[in-house]
Amino acid sequence: MATERVGIEGRPLERTSSTNGNEGDGDADAADSDLAAALDVAVDGDVRFDEYTRVLYATDGSIYGAQPAGVIFPRDGDDVRSAIRVAADYGAPVLPRGAGSSLAGQAVGPGCIILDLSRHMNEICEIDPDERRATVLPGVVQDDLDDALEPHGLRFAPDPASSNRATIGGGIGNNSTGAHSVRYGITDAYVEACDVVLADGSLIHTRDVVLDSPEWEDIVSKDDLEAEIYRTVRAIIEDNADEIEARYPTLKRCVSGYNLQKVLRENEAGEDVLNLSKLVVGAEGTLGVVVEAELSLVTRPEKTALAVCCYDDLLDALAAVPEALELEASAVELMDDEVFRLAAESPEYAEYAEPIPDGTAAVLMVEFDSEVVDDLSAALTNATERLVDDGAAFDSIEALEPETQDRLWKLRKASIPLLMSMDGDPKPYPFVEDASVPPEELAEYVASFEEILADHDTTAAYFAHAGVGTLHIRPVLNLKDDDGVETMRSIAEDVTDLALEHNGAFSGEHGDGLARTEFNPKLYGPTLWQAFKDVKSAFDPDWRMNPGKVVYREDDPTDIREHLRYGPDYASLEPQTALDFEDDGGFSHLVELCNGCGTCRQTDGDVMCPTYRATEEEITTTRGRANLLRAAISGEIDPEERYSDRFQEEVLDLCIGCKGCQSDCPTGVDLAKLKAEVKHQYHEREGTSLRERLFSNVDRFAAAGSTAAPVANRATNLPGARTVLEKTLGIAPERTLPSFQRETLVDWFADRESTVDPETATAGVVLFPDTDTNYSNPDPGKAAVRVLEAANIRVAVPDLGPTGRAAYSTGMLDDAAEHGEALLEDLEPYLERDWSILFVEPSDAAMVVDEYRSLLPDRVEEDRLERLVSNAYGVCEYLDANRLDERLSVDYEDAHGRVTYHGHCHQKARGADHHAVGLLRRAGYAVDPVDSGCCGMAGSFGYEAEHYDLSRAIGDLLREQLEASAAETATADGGESTVVAPGTSCRTQIGDFEGYDRPPHPIELLAAALEA
Ligand SMILES: Cc1cc2nc3c(=O)[nH]c(=O)nc-3n(C[C@H](O)[C@H](O)[C@H](O)COP(=O)(O)OP(=O)(O)OC[C@H]3O[C@@H](n4cnc5c(N)ncnc54)[C@H](O)[C@@H]3O)c2cc1C
Ligand code: SF4
Ligand code: SF4
Repeated sequence: MATERVGIEGRPLERTSSTNGNEGDGDADAADSDLAAALDVAVDGDVRFDEYTRVLYATDGSIYGAQPAGVIFPRDGDDVRSAIRVAADYGAPVLPRGAGSSLAGQAVGPGCIILDLSRHMNEICEIDPDERRATVLPGVVQDDLDDALEPHGLRFAPDPASSNRATIGGGIGNNSTGAHSVRYGITDAYVEACDVVLADGSLIHTRDVVLDSPEWEDIVSKDDLEAEIYRTVRAIIEDNADEIEARYPTLKRCVSGYNLQKVLRENEAGEDVLNLSKLVVGAEGTLGVVVEAELSLVTRPEKTALAVCCYDDLLDALAAVPEALELEASAVELMDDEVFRLAAESPEYAEYAEPIPDGTAAVLMVEFDSEVVDDLSAALTNATERLVDDGAAFDSIEALEPETQDRLWKLRKASIPLLMSMDGDPKPYPFVEDASVPPEELAEYVASFEEILADHDTTAAYFAHAGVGTLHIRPVLNLKDDDGVETMRSIAEDVTDLALEHNGAFSGEHGDGLARTEFNPKLYGPTLWQAFKDVKSAFDPDWRMNPGKVVYREDDPTDIREHLRYGPDYASLEPQTALDFEDDGGFSHLVELCNGCGTCRQTDGDVMCPTYRATEEEITTTRGRANLLRAAISGEIDPEERYSDRFQEEVLDLCIGCKGCQSDCPTGVDLAKLKAEVKHQYHEREGTSLRERLFSNVDRFAAAGSTAAPVANRATNLPGARTVLEKTLGIAPERTLPSFQRETLVDWFADRESTVDPETATAGVVLFPDTDTNYSNPDPGKAAVRVLEAANIRVAVPDLGPTGRAAYSTGMLDDAAEHGEALLEDLEPYLERDWSILFVEPSDAAMVVDEYRSLLPDRVEEDRLERLVSNAYGVCEYLDANRLDERLSVDYEDAHGRVTYHGHCHQKARGADHHAVGLLRRAGYAVDPVDSGCCGMAGSFGYEAEHYDLSRAIGDLLREQLEASAAETATADGGESTVVAPGTSCRTQIGDFEGYDRPPHPIELLAAALEA
């Protein structure tokens, strides 16, 4: 990894009493405590058995939740071995884990020791382009591997929709696959060899071993666990050859049970070869822990093309799948109207659903690639002819441009989390969502599935991998209710019967976990069920590796209904709130919207979640924060805990309020809002610190600083002044403090003559004098006035109080609301004249547009509030949306430079990031908008001494992107690129990077391009 991550290592090894059903069980606590101490001695990586960690690792992307005993963060394979040996001594169960994005509960382990392999063991050891092989540690995120392979024209073939956070180890555990399984199959085909730590801590290297060869004899002649495994597995396969042949469905995807059908094969020389890697793949961590894997790779198609065929009937779309497969497609995927409906309602995904025509009940996405099809354009035409003109589809969208295809795929990949964003308790839950049947039986299967749903009085959404017969069908149920849980069980029974009837598999993608293991005896019959148990016993004689998944002990059967995250016993409190959560379905509903999908662990792209990217710690993900809040409102931890200093410091204060999750979390978990509310409640009980008061009233200090400038500026530079500020207020000495201007923007404006004739002006606007622009850096404000007036807009810059953004960010909601109320009153005369309110600073614009509706409803009349909110814009947004730049005389000689644009995260959350880019481009600049997240400064966060390192680490991620953009410019034309950023915080952070000046606001570049 290029960037040094900020660790939260060294957190005390706290052993608070367990809440996983062991309350008051002193013996169990003492045993856990001894175990933790022994692990701490044996393992180099962190060992955490504290309550927060147990909550953080109690869930995955499934419906399940149960606390583990503790979590270990191994540094290498030796650490894994040491941990497993200690676990063996204590008889403790062990569960390896990657991103925890599993959907069947296989990453949930009640009472287990979880090995989080994503934290340190995430190295790509070797890429051998000639042999098309890569050797990786298990915690590598799949997209990171693909990024590293791209320059070689290679990729790892299985492509689960979760590939931006899912690890290779997790993909091996689940035998993952994705949309392109039509062409490539599933993970087991690409795992050639593994280093696997077994249940006794021994390490084996699984690979092709020719039966009865000297190598074989050497292995089986030993008296160890490895030898026992080889002997047993061979015997099981040979003894059960007929049953294996008969029982495994002949599908591209079957990931239920163990891969007995794939362990033994004939190699090119005609020899019988046994490769245990194929058994470890899909074993869900129940046979051992993969600590290194050798993967085979495929070439990356140079080009792809996508036909999205639209049907007005779901069954028609399904019936067309065999025809679509005949077209030599590399993917055939389905989405139904429920996905489009939810996408249209989501701020993040609405734009991606726009191309889907009205009246579409389902689409088939048919992708072609240049490795299979010579003429992609002709392939699209052919698809349209066959599926639309001669088939049942009524329309098709043909996409050749990669950007258009990406947008359509983005919609498809968001299907699962979008469905989980449904309002209310009944939700489309995953438990039968990946049963697979032969594609030609899909339509019939779905028709019967619909009958099952009708019998159980429920409905479902349909999407996913139609081309391989794997449809994600999620019945809508309320699992907080006993009937809902029993209905789930009954539907699962019926669907297993249906899958069997169609020679299908109960799981074609997401694995067994806690949801499907129960049904393996029924699916495979008694002989193979016994064989599975024998395999398990051979690898793991005491059944301690991820117990209850794939197989179970007869005296402790796995039950789909147990360990539910939101079962009938679940209850949460709905706290009294200062903010209005009505649109979110309530405070607790917003918290519970987190389904654990793990998108907030994504390692690149989008804004969410910058703190995780910098630390790679689960507690700094949106999911981690939501999980701890859920634990607190549901009594899993003491509800009072959310007011503790630890909760503030570790859970809330490290959220930098970038609002990335508001737009990027597919279900819209708005953690910045939740944080503001809980911080407010905390302040109500515990008061506020001097620093919090200083930051939330920063406008007053800035006003005083401006009045006393330049003396005030010199004061902060006096020797020892920064140390005093650090000691008294906790302000990071490394930071450049703002310096104040004697002449404020308001003063400057008052002293000048407008260049616009009020009689002929086409509109009037108030330019809001935010704290930084007014007192410290007026240039963007002056530039905005110049541009607006050049566009014949009448401008006012009155002396106004703050929007309340600073107070809101520190959770001082009463102060924030008072500021909002006062601002509304001051702006009312302008609003009455239909003037718009413009902001140079994006976080102030977002404060008014996003936050006022939940902050002010109890204080001001709805129509007054609505008039302000709907007339507030960022300055670039206003110019761009009204195409006012077309009225400007631009000197294109001056506006020809290259520009690297870093947008503000609050702007991105509002989908208002593109306006500045459009304006600058039209003015003649060549703009590279970097796909950056938050700059890490986040208002006051970056000034706080204890947060300085994290702030800089997040900033370093941005710096890497700026440098990549500059390098691209240098390569393209040898020129230099100017960085621009609309956010005050971002400009401060970038200005503090070594070798960088404080960048301008985009409006300054636009003003610079105006003809004199
Ligand atoms: C929105 C969403 C979309 C998804 N789409 C897909 C999809 O298209 N296709 C698909 O296949 N899956 C999909 N999944 C499921 C899941 O994301 C994938 O299976 C993914 O590959 C799991 O990776 P992970 O790192 O999160 O693994 P985890 O969930 O952490 O672990 C998965 C299993 O592997 C085991 N394991 C982890 N590491 C190791 C190791 N080193 N050695 C041995 N066992 C190990 C674990 O014990 C567990 O049983 C999706 C999930 C979500 C939430
Ligand atoms: S916060 Fe959102 S993105 Fe993160 S796990 Fe929860 S639902 Fe998924
Ligand atoms: S507001 Fe930003 S930092 Fe906080 S959880 Fe959301 S994405 Fe992460």
